[in-house]
Amino acid sequence: MSDIAKFIFGFKRFQKDYFCADSTVFEDLREEQKPRALLIGCSDSRVDPALLTGCAPGDLFVVRNVANLVPPCEDDGGHHGVSAAVEFAVRSLEVEHIIVLGHCNCGGIKALLREGGGGHSGAFIDSWVNIAAKAREQVLTDLAGSAPQVQERACEQAAILISLENLLTFPWLRKRVEAGQLYLHGWYFDFESGELFSYLPETQHFELLVPRCA
Ligand SMILES: [Zn+2]
Repeated sequence: MSDIAKFIFGFKRFQKDYFCADSTVFEDLREEQKPRALLIGCSDSRVDPALLTGCAPGDLFVVRNVANLVPPCEDDGGHHGVSAAVEFAVRSLEVEHIIVLGHCNCGGIKALLREGGGGHSGAFIDSWVNIAAKAREQVLTDLAGSAPQVQERACEQAAILISLENLLTFPWLRKRVEAGQLYLHGWYFDFESGELFSYLPETQHFELLVPRCA
């Protein structure tokens, strides 16, 4: 089966489940969506947010980009796609949770770490991943001499924390967090082990949220 045929077949299966069967999911969603969470994930094909979290249409508002990064709030008239999505999710949809979902073996973080965002990954990628330049500096200082895999994992996790920090630079978002109306989560999916980790501010570490299969 060609790639495109596979996708069309997949859509037919989706249509059968949601439009041909007794499903009322889209009847309820026709007029408006009311997702309770915004998930910011990587564009990586192995880390599909809805698949990973078992979500149905309408459950998750999703932004995906290279290395699941959030830029700081910049009021410069630029084309800020991630910021626009965050603004819509928080101010219009009034989501209660924002999850920044990072993952192992992230190509974007690898580009940042190995090339410092100034290598040969491409002008757009280099500039984009530099949002997490601070994570790179921290890892190369703290883990100088460590194995590349150790540095990469640390940088992937440190970049999640930078995105969480950057989320708080949006004043209307910070206000909701401080009022207890919005909760921020840093998750890390390890697809080598199948485990899910969550950042715990108390321990300042990513702690196991879902252990590997028994
Ligand atoms: Zn990635």
